[in-house]
Amino acid sequence: MVIECSLCGNPMTVRHCAPLSLTLRRLYFVCTRCGHKRKASHEIDFSLSPARHPNPGISLDVRDAPRLRGPVDSRTKKTTRQGERG
Ligand SMILES: [Zn+2]
Repeated sequence: MVIECSLCGNPMTVRHCAPLSLTLRRLYFVCTRCGHKRKASHEIDFSLSPARHPNPGISLDVRDAPRLRGPVDSRTKKTTRQGERG
């Protein structure tokens, strides 16, 4: 996972990830340009579609959500070549 450093605009990468639960992770980011370090959380709020092989230990609602803008989103198949679906 990469996010933008709010101090210098450089991409920040995850240097460590700690699981806090089945749906929550603590992420530690570092900026390779300015050295800024950041702690953040990544939580799964709900599912956009049911899992083929659900984990009985996780109960997530399946909810509809507005589609993301752009050529590819979570409901779009991977594109192998421009305009061709894989
Ligand atoms: Zn930075």
